[in-house]
Amino acid sequence: MVYQKAKTFYHSEFEETLHTTGLKMALYVYKFGGTSVGNVERIKAVAEKVKKAHDLGDQIVVVLSAMSGETNRLIGLAKQMQVHPTERELDVLISTGEQVTVALLSMALHELGCEACSYTGSQVKILTDSSYTKARIRKIDDDRIHADLNTGKVVVVAGFQGIDEQGNITTLGRGGSDTTAVALAAALKADECHIYTDVDGVYTTDPRVEPKARRLDRITFEEMLEMASLGSKVLQIRSVEFAGKYNVALRVLSSFKEGCGTLITYEESQMESALISGIAFNRDEAKLTITGVPDLPGVAFKILGPIADANIEVDMIVQNIADDATTDFTFTVHRNDYQRAKSLLEQTCATLGARKVTADDSIVKVSIVGVGMRSHAGIASTMFQALAAEGINIRMIATSEIKISVVVDEKYLELAVRALHAAFKLEQGSED
Ligand code: ADP
Ligand code: ASP
Ligand code: MG
Repeated sequence: MVYQKAKTFYHSEFEETLHTTGLKMALYVYKFGGTSVGNVERIKAVAEKVKKAHDLGDQIVVVLSAMSGETNRLIGLAKQMQVHPTERELDVLISTGEQVTVALLSMALHELGCEACSYTGSQVKILTDSSYTKARIRKIDDDRIHADLNTGKVVVVAGFQGIDEQGNITTLGRGGSDTTAVALAAALKADECHIYTDVDGVYTTDPRVEPKARRLDRITFEEMLEMASLGSKVLQIRSVEFAGKYNVALRVLSSFKEGCGTLITYEESQMESALISGIAFNRDEAKLTITGVPDLPGVAFKILGPIADANIEVDMIVQNIADDATTDFTFTVHRNDYQRAKSLLEQTCATLGARKVTADDSIVKVSIVGVGMRSHAGIASTMFQALAAEGINIRMIATSEIKISVVVDEKYLELAVRALHAAFKLEQGSED
């Protein structure tokens, strides 16, 4: 098949000609996820793929995840030592998974006669802030990588990890290797960043939930950012933010089969006809309600203040109008914070003289996303009608310019996703 490079990065047709005729080298960052390096055979297959690209004359930087399941295994070990593991030590531990795969891939490349060198995040060096387990990249020192690339080596970098100003090891949050790859692509001014995974692109929804989901040839940064933040784990949200900010040509592809994958792009024109690009869902939320709150200025602050002070992030918020001078207030938090948020809210309930607290951690958020929403009316009613036809009760609703989210009972997740996929005719897109 003819592989088309992303148009976005070519400054001129002349430069494109240089690339396609092999007169100018392209620099690619390839990231392989956990399943793609899940065992020795797969690492050898990745080495073959990398060598093939390198043999064509391109410069290749590879970013790897740990073998699939390894990060969870390491977290499991930590939890056997401490119920809430010390975050600094947790990062020292969970960053080791990636160190294993980069060394193994480098060896596999040597075995194929391809020069390669592996680096940890601290060796590169990927400088981050000190927020253990969710650090943000501040700066990347690319001298060492460029020096290696210029001598014809493949550079293999451990994803998901960095180092802070004090020399402590940090990690970038689950799925963080995507962000390492995009940040490296931005720092190195790579021509493209390829995220190789176990699906062959970004789909209209998670194909594990809706087998009729369709691969998108392109999706806008804005939509991908919404999809990622609303729960589609195919790309870590920060990687999409980085790619959008630094104009990195980003593509999601399969490690296992050939294809063009999905290009994340600024261009909207080809997608104008699509009302909705995709459906995202999040199983990690829990809902808390406080009823019979005196309806006075400052109550929202009194309810959410202690939650914020405990460093608990709040997602959706709804306050009802009540006619007896009291109001009901509902919000959602991450399920990991559910118990803490519930006990804080119970204390607030007593202080405010409110009626009671009800809480539910078996809810999910299902969202439809699409830039087409801006110019079309009636999308919300189509969504609500489709859910009603399946007898699915909507517990909360939130909207923004390009998304509508609903909270429903967890048991309806698959049914809701499939009903919405059919209602918006997502399986019949015009792209393929
Ligand atoms: P990796 O280990 O390669 O980083 P991930 O498990 O993080 O892979 O991401 C790939 C998975 O994302 C797929 O197996 C798929 O189940 C899931 N996924 C969720 N939403 C989507 C979507 N819209 N399109 C494609 N995959 C999705
Ligand atoms: N290994 C890390 C995780 O499982 C990072 C990654 O795979 O991107 O979250
Ligand atoms: Mg991932």
